[in-house]
This record gives sequence, structure tokens and C-alpha cells, in this order.
Amino acid sequence: MLSFVPDRPDPKDAQLLAEVDRTIASGFRGLRFSAELERRYETETVEQRRHFLTSVGLGGSLIYNLFMVSDWLSLNDMFAYVALGRVCLITPLFIFLLILIRRTTSRHVIETAAATGTVLCSVLPLVVMVYSESPFRLHYQLGMLMIMVYCTVIQQLPVRYAAVSMVSMFTVQLVTTYIADFAGPQIWQANALLFGSTVALLLMASWFLEHGSRLSYLFALRGRLLQTQLMELARIDSLTQLFNRRFQGEVLISLWGRAREVPMNVAVILLDIDHFKSYNDNYGHLQGDTCLRLLSGVIQRAAQKADALTFRFGGEEILVLMTHAHPSQARALAENLRAAVSALNVPHPVLGDGAKVTISLGVAVASAPHTSAEALIAMADKALYTAKGEGRDCLRCAPAEVA
Ligand code: GH3
Ligand code: MG
Ligand code: MG
Repeated sequence: MLSFVPDRPDPKDAQLLAEVDRTIASGFRGLRFSAELERRYETETVEQRRHFLTSVGLGGSLIYNLFMVSDWLSLNDMFAYVALGRVCLITPLFIFLLILIRRTTSRHVIETAAATGTVLCSVLPLVVMVYSESPFRLHYQLGMLMIMVYCTVIQQLPVRYAAVSMVSMFTVQLVTTYIADFAGPQIWQANALLFGSTVALLLMASWFLEHGSRLSYLFALRGRLLQTQLMELARIDSLTQLFNRRFQGEVLISLWGRAREVPMNVAVILLDIDHFKSYNDNYGHLQGDTCLRLLSGVIQRAAQKADALTFRFGGEEILVLMTHAHPSQARALAENLRAAVSALNVPHPVLGDGAKVTISLGVAVASAPHTSAEALIAMADKALYTAKGEGRDCLRCAPAEVA
């Protein structure tokens, strides 16, 4: 097939579009699509997600290490341990997870790695806090709030992953503040309530973020599918399903553009149904339409086998375009088309007993861009009229103008 002709839309696209519309209308509160749509969503967003998580991961790791200033001020009795833990343990682990995110193609691994990195970051300062004698350690645990915000709002982990991370961090928070024993049970409970509410609110934010991101994906996919449908509609003739005259113009411009870089032989076969007016007069225009559709289908399939494109040129006239064609190949294809229509044996009784619908064809082959598209079509048209004049149901060839 000519490489510059866009692919026809996948017949499954119509079903997919209906599925997208249904999903948007349903609200998908469970944040899951149907299996096929979910697979597509994960595959098509994985690269963007990977890129995003690597960028925020690098920024997050930098800020995480900047907190050594705070370690120095608040937990200076344990500073050496915290600094070693941050630089020699957590940061290398974090970098390992970032590399894993860059390398893997599995969405599950990417989100799990991002969640694991965040939970790991939250553990070290709080564990160190337990062993510190610093009077400022009470405030130190508030850093967990920031890590929770990072996990849900900055990393935008899908809700399932965010929920597991948040519950893990909340547990770390409750256990370490309990063990640190820096205040009475009332303060610990108030603290637990504060963190519990934060977890609940941030998980709500996480739901809205994931819902929003899934909804934008659906609208973008819907836009893409509608655009393909629209482009198809704009280049297809609705009655015959052949390419229309408008698209023929685009193809010829594009083809001659290429031929200016690398000259090539182009063949045009112009064909016309014989005595079609009287067919319409006898059977009516609706039956005429059915006949035209039937012939168009047969001609299109035969042309496709020879890698040729078929356009509805006018009323009952069809143009077949072949590139890199030798005159003998164009002639053979034209004869195939004539024979295929004749073999349909569509009766045309007005012309006499046993008469059937036939076509006449004009064939022209020339070298592009030396011969213009208009001149080539005019040559085929002239040959077609010769065929009409010489009895119809036959083909005539214009003298080839090939290099
Ligand atoms: P010839 O063998 O010389 O081509 O004779 P003809 O009757 O086919 O030629 P003419 O140009 O006089 O008539 C073409 C007819 O094709 C006229 C019109 O009724 C019919 N036609 C063109 N487009 C359509 C269409 O979309 N549907 C139907 N049903 N008929 C069409
Ligand atoms: Mg005709
Ligand atoms: Mg005609």
C-alpha cells in the first residue's frame, strides 16, 4: 500500500469509543476501568509516570538530605547516626529505587518502588528520634506530615498504593512516638488523632487526584478516537465506501511531492459504468445505488490486491491509482477489474435479453513529476472515451509516457 496513505481506523475503535463513553458516564468511583481499557491506560501512561516519578524523586531526595541541617539543630546528640543513615543507607536505597523505576516497564513495580522509597524515608528520622535525648525531639516527628503530603499529593501515587504507604507510615508514627514516650497518653492520643485525620484527608486528595488523572486520560483517548473517525469520514465516500475526490486531491499532491524527490511511474485507470442512466431509468435510483455499491466493492478488493488505491471520481466513475507501475501491470489490473465486474452478472435487461452491467476503462501510465497529475488523468479520460466509442466493456490504453 502507498506508504503516505494513512491507515484505516481499527474496526475495534468504535467499540472502544463506546466503552470510553460508558466509563465516563459511570463515574468509575472504584477507580478501575474494564480490563481492556485498564491495560491501555497503564501502558499508555507508564512512560509519563516513570518520567514524573524520577523527577520528583530526585527533588525529594535532595530536600530529604537538606534536613540534615534540622538534624544538627534538633537531634545533635545523634547527628552522626542520622547523617550516616541518610547519606549512606537511605539515599543509596532511594537511588536504587529510582533506577528500578527508570528500567522497568511494569506499572506495578514503578508505583511499588515509589511507595517503598517514601516509607523508607519516613522510618529513619523517627527511629533515631526514639533514642535521642534532645529536648526538641517532640517537634521532630512533625516531619512525617511532610512525607505524607509528598507521598499522596506530590508523587500522586494511585490510591491503592497511597493507602498502603500511609497506613505503614501512620503505624511507624504511632509506634515510634509511643516508644519515645515524650509525653503523657493524652498527648499521644491527640497526636494519633491529628495524624489519623491527616491520613484520611490525604487519601481523599489521593482519590480526587487519581480520578482526575484517569478522567483526563479518558477524554484525551476519546478525542483521539473521534479525530480518527472524523478523518476517516472526511476522506470516504458514504455511498460507495471508496476514498472520495477530496482525498484523491490530497493523495495526488502528496504523491507528486514525493516524485519530485524520487521520480516514479504512476498509473491511472479511469473507469465508468456502461449505460448506467438507462439502468437507473429501468430499476430506479435506489437499485442503481445498490448496483454502484456492489461494483465499487468488487473493484476496490481487486485493486487492493494489486496495492492500488480506489477513489470515487464522479457519479459512476472510479479512479484507480497505482504507483511504481509498469504499463503491463496497469493493463493487467484494468483487465482484472473489467473481468471481475463482468463476472458479477448483474442483469441489465434494457440492453436486451441476457445483457449485464459492464464497465469501460481508460489506462494511462506516465512518469511523475515529468507528467502532471492532471495531464495523466486527462490521458486516462481520453482512453476511456475511446473505449466507450469502440463498443464498451473493454479497456483502451493511452500511449505510455514512462521514463
Ligand atoms: P455510458 O455508457 O456512456 O457511460 O452511459 P451512461 O448512461 O452510464 O452515461 P451518463 O453519463 O449519461 O449517465 C451516468 C448516470 O449515472 C447518470 C446518473 O443517473 C447515474 N449516476 C451517477 N451517480 C449516481 C449515483 O450515485 N447513484 C445512482 N443510482 N446513479 C448515479
Ligand atoms: Mg456511464
Ligand atoms: Mg459517467
